[in-house]
Amino acid sequence: MIDMSSTTYIRADCENCKESIEYPSELCGQIAACPHCSQPTRLPIPFIPSPPPISNPPPQLPPPPRINPDYQEIRPGDFICPNPNCGFCGKPKQRPRGSMLVGFILCFLFLIPGVLYFIFMTGYRYYCPKCGIQIANDN
Ligand SMILES: [Zn+2]
Ligand SMILES: [Zn+2]
Repeated sequence: MIDMSSTTYIRADCENCKESIEYPSELCGQIAACPHCSQPTRLPIPFIPSPPPISNPPPQLPPPPRINPDYQEIRPGDFICPNPNCGFCGKPKQRPRGSMLVGFILCFLFLIPGVLYFIFMTGYRYYCPKCGIQIANDN
């Protein structure tokens, strides 16, 4: 809705007689008869100082994702210690199940027990590095 009461009147000079004429801003840019000399004259478009250009703020980059230091991400291979008093979360400590030296000695002295020893004692046991409880066997 255009509020007609807000019509502003512009004052300009006639192109012919240089008399001052007043006209509503809606008519600017049009040809009208001068009330003084009755000659058609262009109603000039008033010079409106353009507002200073609004400096565009730099595009807001999304804030980097906050890493909660309290939050421990459980990666594949990590474990949560089943010990409720420990609560460790992370990589388990890996220990070979058997002793290579014992296996070699058994192989050297008694071939079959040595081979069996290697068969049964290969693999690893996993321990919590914090409280030391055994978590899993890896066969
Ligand atoms: Zn005139
Ligand atoms: Zn633990």
